[in-house]
Amino acid sequence: MIYLDHAAATPVDARVLRAMEPYFGEKFYNPSAAYLPAKKVSADYEVAKAKIAHCIGAKGADLVITAGATEANNLAFTAPTSKVLYLETEHDSVRRVAQQYGGMAVRVLANGLVDMADLRAKLTDEVEMISVSLANNELGVIQPLAEIAALVREVRMDRMRRGIKRQLLLHSDASQALNLLDVNVARLGVDLLTLNSAKVYGPKGVGALYVAHGVKLLPLTLGGGQENGLRSGTENVPGVVGFARAMELAHEHVNGNRKKYAGWRKILLDELEGHELINRKHCLDNFVVVCYEGLDAERLVFALEERGVYVATGAACAASKGVRSHVLSAIGLSEAQIAGSLRLTLGETNDEAQIHEAAAIINEVVAAERKRMGA
Ligand code: PLP
Repeated sequence: MIYLDHAAATPVDARVLRAMEPYFGEKFYNPSAAYLPAKKVSADYEVAKAKIAHCIGAKGADLVITAGATEANNLAFTAPTSKVLYLETEHDSVRRVAQQYGGMAVRVLANGLVDMADLRAKLTDEVEMISVSLANNELGVIQPLAEIAALVREVRMDRMRRGIKRQLLLHSDASQALNLLDVNVARLGVDLLTLNSAKVYGPKGVGALYVAHGVKLLPLTLGGGQENGLRSGTENVPGVVGFARAMELAHEHVNGNRKKYAGWRKILLDELEGHELINRKHCLDNFVVVCYEGLDAERLVFALEERGVYVATGAACAASKGVRSHVLSAIGLSEAQIAGSLRLTLGETNDEAQIHEAAAIINEVVAAERKRMGA
């Protein structure tokens, strides 16, 4: 089996699993309990949060732990009380919430990057938050967050000069970026940042929202008052300990990963045949999106599965609902191009030999499909 869908899910690293195990067994206590072993678990939980935060240049107290990135994105959208802007290519956990709050979509250019002119034009005095993912989950396109943050600072100053008190926050979903980019909240200039354990070889159903000092949020759940009252519910101690180990490993290996995946990406681009490359530039090194116009990518996915190669047509959740990708249509692809597009995302389950083998299998399957179509 050759798994080329690491943007959809990553397996839990053995070192992560080992770090989690005690918290399912002898360290099972509720961190809120009063006796010593529970207090120790509570301390371990705080250490784990501090480790996650350290990887993005923050403090443990700046994080709200959530049950995944969807929840973190939903929590971020409780900050604005007025208009929000979001990039039209955002993941549904941003897009659908933004739409619910009457958000306005900002366009992307044909290369998937934010259209800064459109962003400037839509950034009126009513806007309280801009949400732009650090790297897109269908194309891997890396957005110029620092440039957007500079614009945010400029607008804040201008509002201050004109006596307008409305806040302007910058939120970014960094779910896909953590294995390949050195993510630092100060350097990015974000006020809110979504993290996702499930994409960094940590357990699923664990995530976090970084919240800068002074940013006010509303609770997602009411109850025991955990996570500063913003996300009540008994802490997922094994999940957070695992997430922390996974973040440490991702952080440690960011540069090596980038080099390794860039090499493998090049192999795919050199060896794949008869395609058009969709994500040419400004993208994560582990993302290859290719279009086989005239072919049905869903048929290719099934045919490839029969040959032991697992790939995706678009975001896993969109694919399972049979919905056409809003991301590929936003960058101007035709219906035929969207229908023929495959997303290959590389990761730790792969090695170089697999990449050569995958390219050969994909070429064979595509050739067979073209022959069938021609017949
Ligand atoms: N944001 C992005 C960019 C993603 O890729 C994903 C998962 O695919 C999510 C959010 C949602 O994450 P989860 O399903 O873990 O809540």
